[in-house]
Amino acid sequence: MPYELPPLPYDYNALDPYISAKTLEFHHDKHHAAYVTNYNNLIKDSDLADKSIEEVIKATYNDSSKSGIFNNGAQAWNHSFFWNSLKPGGGGAPTGAVAEKIDADLGGYDKFKEEFKKAATTQFGSGWAWLVLDNGTLKIVNSPNAVNPLALGHTPLLTLDVWEHAYYLDYQNKRPDFIDAFINNLLNWDFVNQNLTAA
Ligand code: FE
Repeated sequence: MPYELPPLPYDYNALDPYISAKTLEFHHDKHHAAYVTNYNNLIKDSDLADKSIEEVIKATYNDSSKSGIFNNGAQAWNHSFFWNSLKPGGGGAPTGAVAEKIDADLGGYDKFKEEFKKAATTQFGSGWAWLVLDNGTLKIVNSPNAVNPLALGHTPLLTLDVWEHAYYLDYQNKRPDFIDAFINNLLNWDFVNQNLTAA
């Protein structure tokens, strides 16, 4: 099924100064939009045309003849998930169910911060850092390029885009500073809790 580019869930300047309006304009209106357009063009006349994007991602992962569909579809989906992983005035310690689960599964919030930053920093080149449920247990993982947890059978709860286009205008080469800003000032724990409840 055609995938629709969702509007950003906040104004372009809502995440300033941590992510500038200029970055969001390029990232959403150019990068994300291009993945959506490419994906729709690629599936239009294929045998996957009637499938949901989640089904297409799972069906095309590891199929080298469909890598274009996988890469564009997963990137279209990942960015929609990423916009919801951010909110103005976010970040800091979690509340609700995820707070308890972080204590139980990851050894507490300080450990979460340390592990998430490590996963996001050490993803070599382009990719993503994720908080996922793996068989009911919280895990922090990273993934290269377009790869996402749906493809690996995990339930995604939160993501951070660490492709250079996500931070270069605002932070240049300082990816760790962008990761700190995400954890301390942007991370949308409400979204994480919603995903946990739905899982
Ligand atoms: Fe991106």
